[in-house]
Amino acid sequence: MAVKLNGNYQNLEESYLFAEIARRIRKWQADHPDKAEQLIRMGIGDVTRPLPEAVVNAMVSASQELGRAESFRGYGPEQGYDFLKEAIQRYYARYAVELDLHEIFISDGAKSDLGNILDLFDKDNVVMVTDPVYPVYVDTNQMDGRKIVFKTASEENGFLPMPAKEDHADLIYLCSPNNPTGAVYDREMLKQWVAFARENHAVILFDAAYECFVTGDLPHSIYEIPGAKEVAIEFCSFSKKAGFTGTRCGYTIVPKELVIDGIPVNPMWLRRQTTKFNGVSYVTQRGAEAVFTAEGEKQIQENIDYYRENAAIITDTLDELGIYYTGGKNSPYIWLKCPGNLDSWSFFDKLLNEACVVGTPGAGFGKAGESFFRLTAFSTHENTREAMRRFKELCK
Ligand code: PLP
Repeated sequence: MAVKLNGNYQNLEESYLFAEIARRIRKWQADHPDKAEQLIRMGIGDVTRPLPEAVVNAMVSASQELGRAESFRGYGPEQGYDFLKEAIQRYYARYAVELDLHEIFISDGAKSDLGNILDLFDKDNVVMVTDPVYPVYVDTNQMDGRKIVFKTASEENGFLPMPAKEDHADLIYLCSPNNPTGAVYDREMLKQWVAFARENHAVILFDAAYECFVTGDLPHSIYEIPGAKEVAIEFCSFSKKAGFTGTRCGYTIVPKELVIDGIPVNPMWLRRQTTKFNGVSYVTQRGAEAVFTAEGEKQIQENIDYYRENAAIITDTLDELGIYYTGGKNSPYIWLKCPGNLDSWSFFDKLLNEACVVGTPGAGFGKAGESFFRLTAFSTHENTREAMRRFKELCK
């Protein structure tokens, strides 16, 4: 006998997208040393605004607390401190969603939990994802060898695919507002997904990482839909909301009502977390708590508005040029149809070579992204304006 590896890793596709973008940029820089300074990156999914002052102050005072014998804390609860869970509970109450504190689990970010949640589900389950898709949903399931079916998002369905009677899936990933398309499901559409999950005894894994960009009457949480608590787990993040991409904090909601074959899922997740995770640092959780204070909310809103203005600069340009796109209004992502019927890598090269602007080719998110392109609103106003001025020149 000899040790055996998880063979599913051999079936994973290379994480080719960002490596290939970096390779093409390096080549371009080598070929055009005189133009290197003109490069504008509009492909980044990372935020650029610094942490809000309220968050920084809360983290400084939490650190000082830990530095004094009388207020030092060691291991905290694996599932998070009540002070942060209570702040999240109040946030959900604004959308008329009632959560029990035991349903809220604090983590080091949505990405970890999106992968870790699969510990609770058998490898025989069929997984449904949209195409294009945030690649983490696909790769984490491929690592376990699950069967994945793709639901095509396209111009015809506004990049918001809906379930059909003949569809079959046990685990369904929905991301709204969506990465990469920026499209957002409305209440009626989410109702249909919840009904589908209930009829098919499926579970929806709802990724709400971009909920803070939602405006108007669009849902922030799947639990705004009646009956969703029985069929959905929700993942959320402080990354884009409050600039925590490097600080790391998120949360997952596992409702008590989610019961499969008579077994409640919430205690399984608690068992999983208390066994395999030792909690998020006290300092980070105090910083996340400050996100929900009046001062924190005001400062965070300023940052979100800053990104929204960038999104508007991009969508105004696309409107002017008559280019089809989704996103931008309730999302930091703008998903546009490549001008001139180009495929997404050809448009990437054209934009880089002729405008010195970098975006993300849609093909990197799935087959259905082949002739689409993602721009993000996370740059500065100055760079966004300049990039769109050059974009307009290129597409005139
Ligand atoms: N979900 C989606 C759709 C994302 O785009 C991202 C990050 O880009 C994440 C989850 C990861 O969030 P976190 O930084 O909390 O791990």
